[in-house]
Amino acid sequence: MSLARNAIAAAITVTFMLPVAAATSIETQASRANHSTTGDQSETNPFFVSAFTTPFGAVPFDRITPEHFQPAFERGMAEHESEIEVIANQAAAPTFENTIAALERSGRQLDRVSMVFFNLTSANSNEAIRAIQTEMAPRLAAHQNAVLLNPALFARVQAVYANRAGAGLSAEQVRVVERYHLQFVRAGAALDETERQRVAAISERLASLGTSFQQNLMKDTDAWVMLLDETDMTGIPAALTAAAAAEAKARGHEGKFAITLQRPSVEPFLSFSPRRDLREKAWRAWIARGDNNDAEDNKAIIAETVALRAERAKIMGYASHAEFVLEDSMAQTPEAALDLMRLVWEPALTRAKEERADMQALIDAAGGDHALQGWDWRYYAEKVRKQRFDLSQDEIRPYFQLDRFIEAQFYVAKRLFGLNFTERKDIPVYHPSVRVWEVTSRDGAHIGLFYGDYFARQGKSGGAWMSSYRVQERFDGEVTPHVVNVMNIPAPPAGQAATMSLDDAITLFHELGHGLHGLLSNVSYPSIAGTSVSRDFVEFPAQILEHYVLQPQILSQFATHVETGASLPVELQQRLIASRTFNQGFATVEYLASGFVDMDFHALSHDATMNLDVAAFEAQSLARIHLIPEIPMRHRSPHFAHIFAGGYSAGYYSYLWSEVLDSDGFDAFVETSDLFHPEVAERLHRYVFSAGNLRPPMQAYKAFRGREPVVEPLLRNRGF
Ligand SMILES: [Zn+2]
Repeated sequence: MSLARNAIAAAITVTFMLPVAAATSIETQASRANHSTTGDQSETNPFFVSAFTTPFGAVPFDRITPEHFQPAFERGMAEHESEIEVIANQAAAPTFENTIAALERSGRQLDRVSMVFFNLTSANSNEAIRAIQTEMAPRLAAHQNAVLLNPALFARVQAVYANRAGAGLSAEQVRVVERYHLQFVRAGAALDETERQRVAAISERLASLGTSFQQNLMKDTDAWVMLLDETDMTGIPAALTAAAAAEAKARGHEGKFAITLQRPSVEPFLSFSPRRDLREKAWRAWIARGDNNDAEDNKAIIAETVALRAERAKIMGYASHAEFVLEDSMAQTPEAALDLMRLVWEPALTRAKEERADMQALIDAAGGDHALQGWDWRYYAEKVRKQRFDLSQDEIRPYFQLDRFIEAQFYVAKRLFGLNFTERKDIPVYHPSVRVWEVTSRDGAHIGLFYGDYFARQGKSGGAWMSSYRVQERFDGEVTPHVVNVMNIPAPPAGQAATMSLDDAITLFHELGHGLHGLLSNVSYPSIAGTSVSRDFVEFPAQILEHYVLQPQILSQFATHVETGASLPVELQQRLIASRTFNQGFATVEYLASGFVDMDFHALSHDATMNLDVAAFEAQSLARIHLIPEIPMRHRSPHFAHIFAGGYSAGYYSYLWSEVLDSDGFDAFVETSDLFHPEVAERLHRYVFSAGNLRPPMQAYKAFRGREPVVEPLLRNRGF
């Protein structure tokens, strides 16, 4: 049973690794409308086989059409149900083999169709896919719940768990037993019947609240538009102007220019528009999403969500939702996460105030007679950046060619882990622009397949992520991993090489880090393979790879100009590297403000959630940390989809937590003066990239680093 084979959806970032959008997919509330299954497909449905017959058993995308999914799901669920019945009701006494290994072996049909389908829902969706998703999402959730809350099955898992020490199991098998047991317990399996029913009802209600939150946010975001004339677009970069024109045309206002509340539209507008009145208008609308006291207002949903989560935690025996969530994380307690946030907060706030003073000086010098406001920050930050580093995106971009940086990331993977990537043209893909590489080891052994889907197009979700089509395992014979990286780089005109921003180049490396975490997995059991680790640890392998992009030896070799072929001049490299700590006070403060509010909401006891005034609570939370009014939270509560419609409740701190690890971890290489030091790389491979969830994360980190992580490298990298 796939307990943990979820896609890792990375949040794309503007500077460093600051998360943007809710990563976890939202289960859509089902209309149980019946999609008729399309006839008898027993001969033709590509999923109706025990293994794909393509090279390496790759997904036969060339033969899969949308009408194959529904029957494959139906059959997969039915098969899994009968497998579970057999495991739960067998007469033999519970053993690892007849219970835990049997669970690992079960649900294969369902896993296979799910992994293909849920990759397509985000990477290559369409009406047919969306209809199946609406139908299937709640049914799959109910299916999963029925397994985890099956009392006979849980009794067997519990028996194996209780006897795990004396059963002659390997260390890995013990770990797998413990993870299964924990998963059942945290789903509510150990509660009495009444409590189980209440927890199930709460989960169901929370799912529909999350859906409403997300839909309100979408409506509120889409409803607002600022239509401008060409004269209003002075100072706006050409690419944004073109996008604004296209948006206006799509909305039936050809010849006008539309600024919307989508981040890629409003954020550059705030950065480049000299029109202070228009910036204020857009900024005020942007920070008020979900908070307009109308039909799309999210505050009542937040109050109910927070109360239900606290109630569920109380039933499970915890003081708060945060304590419940963090128990199964690297941080382990809300206090540990808060300690880190507080440590970074003070220097970040101090720096943000300095940044504010720098910008005010610029305003004053230019004869402006106003104080800097929230809608001015990005605009004047750009001016200071230009003044201080003399850098513009137009100057940098031609040096960041996608193909060259794909070579660069493979070079890093080879130097660190001995991997070779060979492009294959015989593997089926779901879109002609998707590329596939076979990955082999130093000694030529097959490791797995790596898919790259790099260009933005209709039907693809925003952002970037890594996911799997097949997860590594070996307990029933060797199964090699098939992983995919998905990005949204603007496709170049036909015949031209694709270039990207520096942030995209960093994201490319980030996602390869997740990809390598999947590819290098070297465990026996699939439920603990690859990226199946805790949320505040999983970004570590991805974020440590980011550090390689701005190394002079990588830039000199791979940052070559798309037209002239010249290497990025050393002087420009230096300015680029120096500019990375610019405006980090702002970036850190807006991120952490959201992190504190997330933790405050979820640290409430059940009693304290009665009659919660969401607006007042947010204001009090921010007053406690002395947030300055010119910087709003990166995500204010009424549009904080990460925590109210995604999987990040009491977990927004995770990005910072992982950043402690990647900053400190990369220093292990820096200290040797060799960015590919073989022994450091070998430990990183052994204890992190290949180890899946074999060990608790702190144990894994210490085995790699020789000690616990320290926070100083993070502070230094952010320029504090
Ligand atoms: Zn990530």
